[in-house]
Amino acid sequence: MQATVKKTVTFAGVGLHSGAPARLEIHSAPAGHGIVFRRADLKPAVDIPARWDRVTLSKLCTLMDDGNGVTLSTVEHVMAALAGTGIHNALVTVDGPEVPILDGSAAPFVRAILRAGIALQAAPLRAIRVLRPVEVRDGAAFARLSPADHLEIDFQIDFSDAAIGHQEKRLDMANGAFLRELADSRTFCRQADVDAMRRNGLALGGTYLNAVVVDGARVLSPGGLRHRDEAVRHKMLDAMGDLALAGAPLLARYTGHRAGHAMTNRLLRALFADPAAWTWETCSSALEDRLPGAGVASYDLAATDWVAA
Ligand SMILES: [Zn+2]
Repeated sequence: MQATVKKTVTFAGVGLHSGAPARLEIHSAPAGHGIVFRRADLKPAVDIPARWDRVTLSKLCTLMDDGNGVTLSTVEHVMAALAGTGIHNALVTVDGPEVPILDGSAAPFVRAILRAGIALQAAPLRAIRVLRPVEVRDGAAFARLSPADHLEIDFQIDFSDAAIGHQEKRLDMANGAFLRELADSRTFCRQADVDAMRRNGLALGGTYLNAVVVDGARVLSPGGLRHRDEAVRHKMLDAMGDLALAGAPLLARYTGHRAGHAMTNRLLRALFADPAAWTWETCSSALEDRLPGAGVASYDLAATDWVAA
């Protein structure tokens, strides 16, 4: 069955790059609606469906475009939260060009969605089954989708900064794994990159509280890391949000090696460009039980094993 939120969920924060105050609301929507973003600050308001083919430029974040130059950036964490809680239909209004960054993770979105409650809708749910491997590459980096009976995410990163270094993690995303393992992991960056972004007028809303900032072996953010491998967990969170732009739950194994937003979007474009690589599948109840949002509860979100740097 499809699902939406029981009541409106509201967030207030700032955009990571613009630094501008931003308010976001998640409203319930009827079955078959899908996830749609609305730039509510514009007159008339502009709607942008949360779909892979509306992503334009996605180097630092995932940027949606309505096709006429109206954009909304940094949608990936709220998309991950919606997918991770099994919300298929919602109207997400934002009163500016950027989704508020909150604490840099998906946990505030997840917590509020669960508090509002999830309303099941009497409509069958369709998933996208990947039938054969699809891969995109860029030098040593690659992203791949291959057939699987439920969503799996397998990720590796390599950073020269000793505070991050080589990290790899693989998760079966069924059974609330997103909430327990990924949702609270924050955006991360290097101090040198922050300085460069600031010179280019980016990351103006970034602080040591909404991003993990590292400098060589040091973690500069107070309180240190939430997980020793918080960086790769956040990359998996981003992948979850970017894959949700497929428009339906994916039955596939995603492998990301030094991949990012742009590469995951290229991967979805490659998938949908090949009709033999995927098919729609109406979910049986057994299949629904293996989707990331099945049976999740707020206790899944409990932040465990936070460690000091
Ligand atoms: Zn992110």
